[in-house]
This record gives sequence, structure tokens and C-alpha cells, in this order.
Amino acid sequence: MQVEIISPSSRWWRINFCLFLSMAVVCTAIVIRPPEWQPLQKSVELALKSTPFIGDDANETETGEALPSAEYVVFSGDKIADLFHRMALEEDDLQQVLESDLNHLGFDAMVPGSVLRFWFEEDTNRLLKLELQLNVAQKVIYQRSETGGFDVQEVEIPGNWVPSVFKGTVGASFHDSAIATGLDESDVAFVINLLKDKINLNTELPADGKFEVVRAAQFVDEIASGQHEIRAVRIERDGVIISAYLHEDGNFYDADGESLQRSFLPVPTTAQYWLSSGFDPRRIHPVTHRRQPHNGSDFAVAVGSPVIATGDGVVVQVANHPYAGKYVVIQHGSKYRTRYLHNSKILVKKGQWVSRGQEIAKSGQSGRVTGPHIHYEFHIRGRPVNPLSKKVPLISGLGSEEQQSFLTTVEQMDAMLKDEPTG
Ligand SMILES: [Zn+2]
Repeated sequence: MQVEIISPSSRWWRINFCLFLSMAVVCTAIVIRPPEWQPLQKSVELALKSTPFIGDDANETETGEALPSAEYVVFSGDKIADLFHRMALEEDDLQQVLESDLNHLGFDAMVPGSVLRFWFEEDTNRLLKLELQLNVAQKVIYQRSETGGFDVQEVEIPGNWVPSVFKGTVGASFHDSAIATGLDESDVAFVINLLKDKINLNTELPADGKFEVVRAAQFVDEIASGQHEIRAVRIERDGVIISAYLHEDGNFYDADGESLQRSFLPVPTTAQYWLSSGFDPRRIHPVTHRRQPHNGSDFAVAVGSPVIATGDGVVVQVANHPYAGKYVVIQHGSKYRTRYLHNSKILVKKGQWVSRGQEIAKSGQSGRVTGPHIHYEFHIRGRPVNPLSKKVPLISGLGSEEQQSFLTTVEQMDAMLKDEPTG
């Protein structure tokens, strides 16, 4: 877009740094101008669609505010102190601005492409106001205060958040495949961290594993602000879906509205049960009558009842033992391990990924038992604990009222993911 920028003629000299970078034009013109010169007219390509102070009245913005004395587009490596020196501003002004920035740290958020606008006082070159436009949606204004120092105001424009879908197959590396879909390093790090209690995306995803991410980007007047946030993630491994959805409360939950922290179901079956024998490190064994710790809880159920994984994890052992019978061991991250003994039929294989609540076996009375039951053990760092004790992180999630609005979000996100072809 071609526009005219007309500089005010009120200052006896001025430094004009080029206003905006665009793909077409990169300029750093420095013009030093005596007072008798005519107003400078300069034509540049603007990357931004429009700026509020460009108009017929060159000295005022649309809101009647004075035009900045100078404007500067930040380059990589620019430091605010250097820019003050290049503007020939007082060291005292710099110190006062930095002091006022202490609670805002606006200059630390400055990136290449951010715009600085300076308002100087006539004659004295004293700084009256400084505006740091971080992006189209965010700016920080430093206004000289009558009581000394600078008042700071942060301005944020909410804009529109537009979601888009990033989909792929893991291949050689989740990280590389995710980057190839257009996600950036911070997105990938965020997703890995978000699901860290569920799955290690760097090491636990097979090449045919799939990932889907919904990311929303902020736009102000159709210009991307550069800010974006992850809204939903779905990972598929061995047919098991691991998901995370952003809720209005700012937290992520799985598709059922449950917390993403590693958490467990209290009971390893969906069938009716009664607790026939509890965790007891000093128990006298009912068959041998010898002192033998009971490292788990016995859930008495009818033979053939579903035995379910109490948490997400990897099956690390499937075996048939003369005493333990047909059993399954699941590793849940590095800290937790669960064991399910005396089954009649095992439904999973060693190395298989299972999700919380997934049926892994049919219950039975294999091994040395007095009757049909599921012997369920919970180990923390190799030590058995009572599966019903407070040491076991049990599932927690949204309350029933919030659940409804959350499930609407899940439906919307899933619909988006479904409509989008895999890239
Ligand atoms: Zn037992």
C-alpha cells in the first residue's frame, strides 16, 4: 500500500528512522534537517494496513493527539539504552523510564519489529512520552508524570482469536513432524509439557502415532499480532486417544473433563465388588498361615469381570505365575506401577500402551487363591502402598456445572479436527 507520511516541521532538527519494515522495503534513512526546510515528504511501502496518525492533518492523530517526534522499528539486538543514546536523549530520562518499567518489563518483551514512538519537548529535547508498540495488540505507554518520573500504562486490544488445525504422523520424531506442520518451538515444548504426565511424546510415540493440535492466533484488524495459544491436543497411540482441551478457567482437561495430572481410578474394575482383604504389611497369609505382607487390596468379583487399568501407562509385564496366576503389570511414568493378579484371561500385550479405564483382563482365580478376586497393587518408586491411601493421586476434574460447558468446547474442537484432512 502506498501512503504519504508528512513530518511535522516544528523541530529544528529531527531524526527520522524509517517507519515500518515491510517485505518490500527495508530502510533506515536518517535525515537531519534545519528549521527552514519544507516538511519532508516521503513515500514508503507499509506492512501495516493503516496507522492512526497518517492522514491529512500531519501534526495530529485521529484522536487529536500530537504526532510522535520520532519513530523507530526495533531490529534484532537493539537495546533500549542504545536507542536513547542514538536519539540524543538525556541519561536521566532513560533511568526514569527504566525505573518506571520495573513493574511492567515492557522493554524485555521488545522484539524485532516492535515500534518505539518518542515525543520530545520543544527546545530541551526532554522526553515527554514514549510508546512501545510490541505488536498490533499490545503496547506500553510511558508518560512523563507531573510528580516526576513516568506513569506506565499497558494497552491490550483483545482482537479476534482464529483457530487453525495442525495435524501429522509422528514418523522419525514427534518434534520434527510437529514443526513441519507449522507449529513453532514454543508450541511443541508446550504440548510436550502439557501431556508429560500422560505420555513422553519424545520417546513413547511410535512412528505411526498421530497428533492433532488446535492453535488459535490473535488478529487485530486482520493483522496477526504474533500471539497464539494452544487450544486442544489429541494424540493417538495404539488406538488410544490422549487428549487435552483448554477450558475457560485457563486449565486443560482431558475429553472427560478430568485433570491432566497423572491420576488413578481408586478401583481396578467396573464390576460390583467387595473388599475381601485390604493392604496389610503384617498379614498372616490365609493359605500358608505364615507372616507374609499383603501388598495390595483384594477386590472380590465374579469370574470374568472386567479388570481395568487404573491409570494411563505401558504394559511392562504379562505372565502366568504359579502363585500370582495370570497377571499384568503397568508402568505409569517413572514413579508409579500397578499390578493386577489372578486373572482368567489377559487382553493386553507387553509393550502396549493403555489408557485409564481400559479393560486389560478378565478376572478369575488363577494362581494360589481362596476365591475369585482381583489382587491390585500400587507401587510408588518401587514400594507398595495401600491403593486406597492418600499417597495415590486419584482423579479429580471439573465440577458437574462446569462439565457441561467444557463438553461443548470438546465437541467444537473435535468437529474442527474431524473436518481437517491430515497434512
Ligand atoms: Zn491379594
